[in-house]
Amino acid sequence: MKRLAVLGSTGSIGTQALELIALHSDRFRATALVARSSSETLFAQVRAFRPQMAGLTDTRFSIDDIPKDLRDCRWVFGDEALTEAAGMDGCDEALVAVVGMCGLPAVLHALSCGKRVLLANKETLVAGGGLVMKAAKSAGEHSLLPIDSEHSAIFQCLQGAAGNAFRRILLTCSGGPFRVWSKDKIDAATAKEALRHPTWNMGNKITVDSATLFNKALEMIEAHYLFGADVEQIQVLVHPQSAVHSAVEFSDGAVIAQLGTPDMRLPILYAMAYPERLPTGGEPMDLFKLKELTFERPDETRFPSLRMAAECIRAGGAACCVLNAANEEAVGRLLAGKLTVGKLFSTVEETIGRVGHLPADTLSQVLAADRRARETARELMGLPPHTPIRGSAPEPRY
Ligand code: NDP
Ligand code: MG
Repeated sequence: MKRLAVLGSTGSIGTQALELIALHSDRFRATALVARSSSETLFAQVRAFRPQMAGLTDTRFSIDDIPKDLRDCRWVFGDEALTEAAGMDGCDEALVAVVGMCGLPAVLHALSCGKRVLLANKETLVAGGGLVMKAAKSAGEHSLLPIDSEHSAIFQCLQGAAGNAFRRILLTCSGGPFRVWSKDKIDAATAKEALRHPTWNMGNKITVDSATLFNKALEMIEAHYLFGADVEQIQVLVHPQSAVHSAVEFSDGAVIAQLGTPDMRLPILYAMAYPERLPTGGEPMDLFKLKELTFERPDETRFPSLRMAAECIRAGGAACCVLNAANEEAVGRLLAGKLTVGKLFSTVEETIGRVGHLPADTLSQVLAADRRARETARELMGLPPHTPIRGSAPEPRY
């Protein structure tokens, strides 16, 4: 029986993870559940899964808000809920599905406590990749498993590599709702248009990122850290059918790809059960229904996010953290209806330029770079500096 702490249990990934825990209740138990403020959903989850610990990071909540029948569970409020759940004795693995880089301290803590981390929360790896990979290395092989579908696909493809290094990673991308739009039309696009994703049904932040291709930019950085790939070894391919979830090319030219229906339950359960494979309850892929598989070169003029990611990987230090923080802030503004996609691109690019080189060797340096980038981005968007509600990482709401 594997005991899981699910961080971000009320979100798109978190609820699917809980469905899988319920489906395979003989194999998994949810022993900790943490969300930010979706209290009613969390209460229902606590009633159904009876974890040892539950938490809400929003400090407006206290034990007085918890229904009487749920008080036998240990409740934690504020940011500590994330780190406590991730490192607690009663859990073996932490499934981290919060959104934004607020997951970073919890991921580092889980690894330092010897827990395996199942990571959906890509912003954490983008912001603190050097630190996370160092912690994962000390924690041992397979202490960090990806849930992001492309990185899960790459990880699956590498299972058969018998120690051979890859030559290139072929990172696929649906292209999002703006795939065939002109540059002017993309630049003028609003949140409503960005929220119409053609293939995946996900949380708001990642849906916007998928439209701007910042999601793919973050995933290039994620691949760089997880698999030690440099920029030249990462090729993004626009693949509108979302059937090939990514592929790996070896030195002899062989390309090994992972295919499947676009269903996050597969990469979630693959990480949960690794190295075993278990049924997800989803429909298997019907190859006869796949009329075609097409691959296009991404257009960095219409989608400058990809170029920015390549530049930040090359720049090193805290550059990727700065890109992420500026994007998180700008997505928050776009979702509030106050920014267009073109302004989002220019805010992130100008923030990276203005902040310049900063170190990212310690958690406090990463948090300082994150803060500096958010302040700069907010200034560029004509906003006052953030007043962090708690902890060190300010939190835009998505
Ligand atoms: P959602 O917005 O659907 O859910 C986010 C979850 O995190 C919610 O449970 C939310 O709680 C919680 N949360 C947010 N901020 C905090 C915080 N400060 N403290 C505690 N909990 C918090 O996001 P998704 O599930 O779509 O995405 C989660 C992560 O997984 C993201 O990093 C995303 O990039 C990544 N990912 C998602 C995919 C998908 O298909 N959705 C695919 C690949 C990666 P509350 O409900 O209370 O706000
Ligand atoms: Mg992905």
